[in-house]
Amino acid sequence: MLYTDTRDSSARVSFKTAVLKGMNESTGGLYIPVEIPKLDIGFLTKMPEPSFRDIAFETSKLFTDGEVPESDLQEIIADCYPFTSQVVPIDPVTYVLELFHGPTCAFKDFGARFMARMMSYFNKDENEPLHILVATSGDTGSAVGSAFHNVPGLDVTILYPEGKISPLQEKQLSTFTGNVRALKVAGTFDDCQRLVKTAFTDSELRKKFRLSSANSINISRLLPQSFYYTYASLTVTHRAPRDSKIDDPSIIISVPSGNFGNLTSGLISRKMGAPITGFIAATNSNKTIPDWIYSGEYKARPSVATISNAMDVGAPSNYERIQAMYTLDEVRQLFASYWLDDEGTRKAIQECNTRTGYIIDPHGAVAWKAWDDIRHNAMSDLIFGSKNNPEQPGLTPNVPFWGKKIASKQAVGIVLETAHPAKFGEIVQAEIGREPSMPDRLEKVLSLPDHAINMTNNYDDFKEWLVNNL
Ligand SMILES: *Cc1c(COP(=O)(O)O)cnc(C)c1O
Repeated sequence: MLYTDTRDSSARVSFKTAVLKGMNESTGGLYIPVEIPKLDIGFLTKMPEPSFRDIAFETSKLFTDGEVPESDLQEIIADCYPFTSQVVPIDPVTYVLELFHGPTCAFKDFGARFMARMMSYFNKDENEPLHILVATSGDTGSAVGSAFHNVPGLDVTILYPEGKISPLQEKQLSTFTGNVRALKVAGTFDDCQRLVKTAFTDSELRKKFRLSSANSINISRLLPQSFYYTYASLTVTHRAPRDSKIDDPSIIISVPSGNFGNLTSGLISRKMGAPITGFIAATNSNKTIPDWIYSGEYKARPSVATISNAMDVGAPSNYERIQAMYTLDEVRQLFASYWLDDEGTRKAIQECNTRTGYIIDPHGAVAWKAWDDIRHNAMSDLIFGSKNNPEQPGLTPNVPFWGKKIASKQAVGIVLETAHPAKFGEIVQAEIGREPSMPDRLEKVLSLPDHAINMTNNYDDFKEWLVNNL
């Protein structure tokens, strides 16, 4: 299958090129499939519904068509996903899609593990390892470190700013041995990014090593995230008429968003034929996309810090992909958008727990509150003329085509829970009065020895270290 780029629609590259390059260096554009393939209708309507692994296999077969033999792909999928996503009903019309059952307890495991194995696969005939450099302000580093750990032919160096990530996040990325290591940089996240970017443009260094990045713009991180949208929408299609007593309900998916990679994966799943009616783009105070949806003007801005910090993005990179796939009008038809400040997020953690018993993390809480508000009154109020102020938290003044399904109570919601609540134990405890229980795999990492290597924020020091140690 062929891929093009968001800035030059005449570009054509293979899946392998898109994976290994990450982005088109000459245009700065991001790779997207030239055409999104359709899943077979017989597969989508199978009874009982296909398993997560089956969906992963059938979907990735289409996206890697002709480049990865089926038997290799089966092995890759099995190795990527010893865990799965889980659909949990919390009230008759609301499901939580838990995406935290992977090794680092956040949804980024789904994308990062697939990317690592694809890179390794496409690097298998090379003699030299591929050196991955990643700058992280928190969660990406742990997902990438864990995903690439012990994957053949790959070597990973993670840079993170000293004292600027949570103690748990630091443990999650600094305790690896072997092919993954962490550099603790005396400086800021921007310093980490500058060191990595300078290395990529250093021709002397590039002659010595094969360098690559592993950031969220890589298409091989987005495609696998479509698996759980397809899985959840099929699962909910089968059980929702029973749970909700609604015949043939519309399925609305609420996505807590930062860079909008997760939501873009949902768009891909829908285009492939998954029974998804529409989406809620749910953000924290970084409301660049909600503002774009109501005003039509896209204004990137500096990010502001919030308690749902993995969503603190002022210039979401996947805006470019969404725009390449849909016009603004189509986006307004397909998406409701909603934003919530920290105070609202804290209340939502409490309210979700009081009303449903479910313990939700600050990211999922933003998405839950968006769905809960929309289905109770916010959407019908908007349809019947309420003038929502986009400067205030809540539903953006835009009615998607599925708004009337909400007003007539013919819809069910799937709320994406992107991180385990124990990763944000203090915030959650303050709202619900007890600490969420810690999964074993998080507990274990807390007691591992720290192997982080101290680094200055000076490029020459960084380069010298790379030359002496890679
Ligand atoms: C990265 C992240 C998000 C945001 O995902 P995007 O794809 O950047 O929109 C949301 N929640 C958690 C817990 C994350 O780690």
